[in-house]
Amino acid sequence: MLFYAMFLMAFVLHAQTEQVNADRAQRHLSEAIQIRTVSQIDESKMEWTEFERFHAFLEHSYPLIHNTLLREKISKASLLYTWQGTRPDLDPIALLAHMDVVPAVDEDGDLWQHPPFSGFNDGEYIWGRGALDMKNVLVCVMEAVETLLEEGYVPERTVYLCFGHNEETTINEGNGAYAIVNTLKERGIHLESTLDEGGAVLPIDIKGVLQANLVGIGIAEKGFANVKITVRADGGHASQPPKHTAAGQLAKVVRDLERHPFEPEMLTIVDDMFRTVGKNTEFPIRWLAPFLLDFQPLFFAIACQFPPGAAFVRTTMACTMLEGSPSPNVLPEEACVIIDCRMLPGTTAEDVERHIRKVVRNKDIEVEFVRCKETKAISPVDSKAFAVLTELSQQRDGKNIVAPYLVMGRTDSYHYEAICENIYRYSPFLVPTSLLLTTHAANERCPVEELAESVRFYKMYIKKMTE
Ligand SMILES: [Zn+2]
Repeated sequence: MLFYAMFLMAFVLHAQTEQVNADRAQRHLSEAIQIRTVSQIDESKMEWTEFERFHAFLEHSYPLIHNTLLREKISKASLLYTWQGTRPDLDPIALLAHMDVVPAVDEDGDLWQHPPFSGFNDGEYIWGRGALDMKNVLVCVMEAVETLLEEGYVPERTVYLCFGHNEETTINEGNGAYAIVNTLKERGIHLESTLDEGGAVLPIDIKGVLQANLVGIGIAEKGFANVKITVRADGGHASQPPKHTAAGQLAKVVRDLERHPFEPEMLTIVDDMFRTVGKNTEFPIRWLAPFLLDFQPLFFAIACQFPPGAAFVRTTMACTMLEGSPSPNVLPEEACVIIDCRMLPGTTAEDVERHIRKVVRNKDIEVEFVRCKETKAISPVDSKAFAVLTELSQQRDGKNIVAPYLVMGRTDSYHYEAICENIYRYSPFLVPTSLLLTTHAANERCPVEELAESVRFYKMYIKKMTE
């Protein structure tokens, strides 16, 4: 017991002694937000000079990094930094972030309390687009490396910093992370692990059941597809309509799809996640949870009642964009719907098309995949990186429950499946859900006090992974 207490004290002291320049981190995040690195689906609309400004900002903000690490521009504006380790026999690690942001809604209106590209620091928050997604991470990673260099730290393992420029808009060809991975692959590099955005900290507060933070380490992410379904019919004047127009037929397609979702299935990762949470709940839920998970039909019936629960156990389909006639008095010659489909890892585009054709009774539909990303890799939970993330998370708060997590959104990480098996998505920023919802919305802002904690986290993570 005494030994354990001493060990814990040494550990806590060690964490506290990790030096951080908090003022500098705040200043740099403010500056980073002021540079409008907005990515656009139509790349001709991108302002490349802003990305050049961002590169220059990094260069003058982090002199030691630019003196010591090799910096390469990859693709149009992505950056790859190499911090050479002393042991070339060890596989390198990579820290990932994207420098692009989504456009700001209502930029000139009064939705924003402080303008989205102001980087305004009110002492409690730093405001603006990218404050949480994810210039905060990029800046904290740079701060951590710069500080480690100031302290004379030399890694044994090589460290790559991989910063994409179009995560928000581009999936495969043309994606900066994709180009970085191809560069590393051509050089024959295999990564020990990668760390990127996408993890989640969910504060759970259900009295008598569970009161703690659930820290999800993303070990897999859902695939996604935008599927366009088109039906055709004779056009003509709307004054003499047939029984069903193309729009009417399309409505039946939508009804068929909504009535026949994918069957739920239990992936090991999701089972692990629910069991880990279950173990940490109070009696009698703690006692009931394993039985419930063992009896899948009942578990699925409950989980599928809630959209977030259903998303964990099935491939989801959402009918989003509809298009028909261009005018009220014109019968549509074609009508189409876009299905936004989020596939469980392992489910392919072929599986999706098969399901659509099976459940839609109209056999004359046209099915086209507009965009598609299949995922299958699930990272292990017994790797060094997973253990380090768990340790650092619990060190910050002993009550944190760390569990493997299936990421719903998409990240640049999945490209790294080509050169790495240990791919983790985790964020050291403890942010309440209400604040997290400002990502991609108005009033995105980062709590100032989280910056120092996060720089400290990245310093410790790098040290533990490279020595
Ligand atoms: Zn992001």
